Amino acid sequence: MDNYLVMVGLEMHCEISETKSKVFSSARNGYTELPNSNIRPVDMAFPGTLPVVNKEAVKKSLMASMILNCKQPEYMYFERKNYYYPDLPKGFQITQETKPAPVGIYGKLEYECNGEMKTALINNLHLEEDAAASEHIGSSTLINYNRAGVPLLELVTEPCFHSADEAVAFLETMRSIYQYAGISEADSKKGQIRCDVNVSIMDKNLDSEDINNWGTKVEIKNVNSFGGVRDAINFEIERQIDAKEDGNYDEVVVQETRRWDEESGTTIRMRSKVDAIDYKYFVEPNIPKYKITKEWLDEIRKSIPELANERKEKYINSYGISEYDAKILVKEKDVADYYEETIKLGANPKASSNWITSVILGHLNKFDLNINDIFLKPNMLVDLIKLVDNKDISSKQAKEVLYAALTEEKEPTKIVEEKGLKQNSDEGAILSVINEVLTEQPASIEQYKNGRTNIVDFLVGQVMKKTRGQANPAMTRNMIIEEIEKR
Ligand code: MN
Repeated sequence: MDNYLVMVGLEMHCEISETKSKVFSSARNGYTELPNSNIRPVDMAFPGTLPVVNKEAVKKSLMASMILNCKQPEYMYFERKNYYYPDLPKGFQITQETKPAPVGIYGKLEYECNGEMKTALINNLHLEEDAAASEHIGSSTLINYNRAGVPLLELVTEPCFHSADEAVAFLETMRSIYQYAGISEADSKKGQIRCDVNVSIMDKNLDSEDINNWGTKVEIKNVNSFGGVRDAINFEIERQIDAKEDGNYDEVVVQETRRWDEESGTTIRMRSKVDAIDYKYFVEPNIPKYKITKEWLDEIRKSIPELANERKEKYINSYGISEYDAKILVKEKDVADYYEETIKLGANPKASSNWITSVILGHLNKFDLNINDIFLKPNMLVDLIKLVDNKDISSKQAKEVLYAALTEEKEPTKIVEEKGLKQNSDEGAILSVINEVLTEQPASIEQYKNGRTNIVDFLVGQVMKKTRGQANPAMTRNMIIEEIEKR
């Protein structure tokens, strides 16, 4: 491994999930709903039907293009990519290749990998339609046309990653961008993300600037999880290095497309590049090209929501959260939204961050839950934080209440009430108990006046005993001293 440089390029397909309808039809954009329930005739390629471009899908693609620092085109256009497959009733996919220009070209994006900042180079970003989904059951195949025409963004990077870690860190950054910008849920469990990976290696002591020194590029198609991307890249690096070491590199590593096989944890040959398919691209005649105005681009640019990094800076600089915790809070947008909701409802930002990162996220991990699925809503966490702030309960008690609220699915205020945890801060009631105690313990007043001030601890203890732990200890302490000094 140490004797070789690794070069990885990525193609990332991500469904745009946050539009109401599909990219060229008025069918609902809802792939995971009841199969074949979200279909219009155009999705089935009925004769005489025509595509109509979804402006919202174009807007979201242009926004992604801006975030990736790409150049946006002057005109919007589409092309046909011709091929036959049962999941593609038209016999072609409407996509964008290079003529005249897709929604984004030549961008770059900073991302963090193992604590270091890196730059990814983007070749292009294009908008296309997804194909239907086929599901193989035994010897038959079922087709779900809900997915036909779902807007899909394809991002193509330059070969700019030097390890599986870098490639995956970039993909995670992209997922975060798609989520925060309101473009997609980017949920690989729902099949919304699919990646192709290409991998090549070269001897470390050759000049890496000279492209001729690079080894043969092997492509791995349709990797459906980030874990899969990591494993596929690492497997392919090892396969290529082994071939170098064994002296049969030229026979083993050939220009070909391979498939990642999750079960065996290996890549398997699909087809060679020599019999690569000619898709016979041409401009889609049913969608006239149209101008993207500068005004529209400005409007889109202004509407880009706060992304993870900006939120992180806000948490550190305005809320006084540590960088470590801020990073944890912004990792999932749903968690960051939950956190901000508690602040909007009046929670102390630091307390809220502590409870979320220390207790709530632990609970989510343990039971593999999303923060939106739990019973404890932001307003309930705020109630709990306020109980602590008002010294009604101690933070130790609050922790127990929070665990109970999460596991028993009960409101924290209810638990506090039921368990009688609320500390008594009623001055009148505490004062009468203090007077009772001081009358019973005349010697301790004497001792205090002789300089044994730590006798107060004993007296606080007596008051706590009489109130069964419900008197507010700090308040009790101050009041005892006041009372003794009056006597
Ligand atoms: Mn594509």
